[in-house]
Amino acid sequence: MRPRSIDRSRRGKVWLVGAGPGDPELLTLKAVRALEEADVVFHDDLVPPACLRHAQSTARIVAVGKRGGCRSTPQAFIERRMIAEALAGKTVVRLKGGDPFVFGRGGEEADALRAAGIRVEMVNGISAGIAAPAAIGVSLTRRGACHGAIFVTGHATAEGSTSPDWDALAQASRSGLTLVIYMGVSSLDHVCAALLLGGLDPTTPAAIVQSVSLPCQRSVVTVLARLAIERKLHALTSPAIVLIGKVVSDAPALLREVSAIARSNSIHDSNRQAR
Ligand code: SAH
Repeated sequence: MRPRSIDRSRRGKVWLVGAGPGDPELLTLKAVRALEEADVVFHDDLVPPACLRHAQSTARIVAVGKRGGCRSTPQAFIERRMIAEALAGKTVVRLKGGDPFVFGRGGEEADALRAAGIRVEMVNGISAGIAAPAAIGVSLTRRGACHGAIFVTGHATAEGSTSPDWDALAQASRSGLTLVIYMGVSSLDHVCAALLLGGLDPTTPAAIVQSVSLPCQRSVVTVLARLAIERKLHALTSPAIVLIGKVVSDAPALLREVSAIARSNSIHDSNRQAR
């Protein structure tokens, strides 16, 4: 069957929007404007419900992330739905946690939309890896402490892709680059062992920040050799950012104290005391 011809002038568009790490106040003004204009919003799990309040009450809100341990909505299905809505003249917002283009598949979605002749507008969000250091009082590229930072995934991202070269990353870290590891919690034992094997000093400052910017944020600040142990001790889970490098030692003493206290108490209670 031949596809129905579509009046190009009546096509809608898709905004690919980053929601930031979780705190609704970290949403950009442009993200808010896109949400206000949206007829349909497709959002991921990591997007806090408070961000969705900016959409009109008439807008359709569609959750397309992993829910309750279900497998995530297939990527091709999400892309097809966005294309169909835009071809029907709707303004679509695709709202993703953090920044859509940092481990967010924003690039893939933009490609699929453009291939279908859909107008795409991109709106950055604050990535969790940018927000995590600030959340524990650390300046990511503090002058004199490092030369920069590397954003890396803790596991292979796409089918068939190889895992990061931890030897090379250990070397990079030794040369003064901070490692900012996304999706690194479930493979943390392996990641830490590989970095140590790659020659990274066991006393390199390291931290895990879970649920950055949310009221339930928790963190530990320690050293590389203890990182995997501390994670287990405090039962830190995804979503979390792992930070490894000299700048982490800038985390205020208070937080380090919190993590020390948390060894004997529950970290949740300790964080509450510290506030
Ligand atoms: N596009 C997102 C990253 C998506 S990949 C961004 O730019 O932030 C998913 C990973 O991001 C999680 O496994 C975790 O490592 C990290 N992440 C996302 N939101 C987070 C949060 N609020 N706190 C800590 N880590 C988070």
